[in-house]
Amino acid sequence: MAESIDRAQVYFIGAGPGDPELITLKGHRILSQADVVIFAGSLINHDLLNYCKPQAECHDSAGLNLQQIIDLMEQGIRAGKLVVRLQTGDLSLYGSIREQGEELGKLGIGFSSVPGVSSFLGAASQLGVEYTVPEVSQSLVITRMSGRTPTPERESLESFAAHQTSMAIFLSVQDIGDVVERLLSGGYPATTPVAVVYKATWPDHQTVRGTLETIAPLVRNAGIRKTALILVGAFLGDEYHYSKLYDAGFSHEYRQA
Ligand code: SAH
Repeated sequence: MAESIDRAQVYFIGAGPGDPELITLKGHRILSQADVVIFAGSLINHDLLNYCKPQAECHDSAGLNLQQIIDLMEQGIRAGKLVVRLQTGDLSLYGSIREQGEELGKLGIGFSSVPGVSSFLGAASQLGVEYTVPEVSQSLVITRMSGRTPTPERESLESFAAHQTSMAIFLSVQDIGDVVERLLSGGYPATTPVAVVYKATWPDHQTVRGTLETIAPLVRNAGIRKTALILVGAFLGDEYHYSKLYDAGFSHEYRQA
């Protein structure tokens, strides 16, 4: 049986990357009963709001500051309303839920989170690729370039590039030239494949493919300056190996060779 909804707390819900069917059943159930919805309007697909009750109050947070968001949440909770904060992808990546949770805590209001499909997962499904290709790459680095939000020095793109593993770079496409320079100076070969995925899972999605050597002008010419991921690594290339897991000659706990 589905858990009952607690109107004394705020529900943070991951909206998924764009396609309105990529919200979880749980997220959908809570959103469809919400009285107050504060949504990240610049990134989420507004069609998700069609899941709300006609009388739900929906607020776009794009023009609001933290205090204004918290005030809306507090007013809703104090009035006994079901309050939902709807954010893009999954909440645990660049979601700013920590600060919202801290501010709510000061008011004695709790929250709970419903995960979402992050855009890096939407992008992989869009391309039909696997970040972890046997013997090619078994790790994925999720990062961003420092911008107005600084990145700790020890997390430079150069330092991650030294591993030459799979990378999904958020929030950085506007500086594609700089990203490429750092990845090259960190150690990826110039022939490393790159895919820039704009609005993964949206109807107007677009993918630009190239290598570290060619990608920057291609992305600039395509006019992509936001809502895109830079995916980098040999997982996008031709080299692959079949996994041992499904190899007919390989025995494991559940199957005899
Ligand atoms: N929590 C979100 C990320 C928020 S930060 C998540 O899990 O996906 C916003 C950045 O996410 C954008 O600048 C872009 O880099 C990326 N992004 C969000 N939606 C995207 C999409 N549909 N396609 C490609 N990138 C996307």
